[in-house]
Amino acid sequence: MARGSRLAKVEASLAEAVERARADRAFVAAVGDVLRGVDAPLAKLAPSCQACGECCHFDQAAHRLYVTTGELALLTENLPDGALWAPKRCPYQRDERCTARARRPLGCRTFFCDARVGEACSALYEPAHQDLCRLHARHGVPYQYRELTAALAELRAAAKDRRFLR
Ligand code: SF4
Ligand code: SF4
Repeated sequence: MARGSRLAKVEASLAEAVERARADRAFVAAVGDVLRGVDAPLAKLAPSCQACGECCHFDQAAHRLYVTTGELALLTENLPDGALWAPKRCPYQRDERCTARARRPLGCRTFFCDARVGEACSALYEPAHQDLCRLHARHGVPYQYRELTAALAELRAAAKDRRFLR
């Protein structure tokens, strides 16, 4: 009983943070600008990618994707189809393709399995992430940094129970 209450509180906290972020359209637009800001320098690195989609199967790829409140607000403008939900796999992937490409988080944009660009990608990630941190502070949006699949599951449960999200 006590455990359930604590979990409900944590769940509401993320959903409320994301709702607050989504209500500030200037904030969400600014988050999108920061994310798109890494695309041109990444393209110059010309990483090798066969678009196999394996990096979105987090267990298979042995990594995790972490996202901020603002990135979740942008990404979850549409929650994915229920049929696509599976443990440790991004539910925005369908037929090995990203269905949220324009809204995908920073970690998606800056990850490539091409070892040649690993360091350069990290060098792009860190300052962009700091920009996102500053944006949260400037707009008074609660900053959270959460593992993607757990965060999406939490938001999905909140949407079902309390209609926080569409
Ligand atoms: S970065 Fe690598 S694992 Fe990810 S889609 Fe491209 S080739 Fe596949
Ligand atoms: S948002 Fe798109 S690119 Fe990022 S993990 Fe999900 S399917 Fe992959």
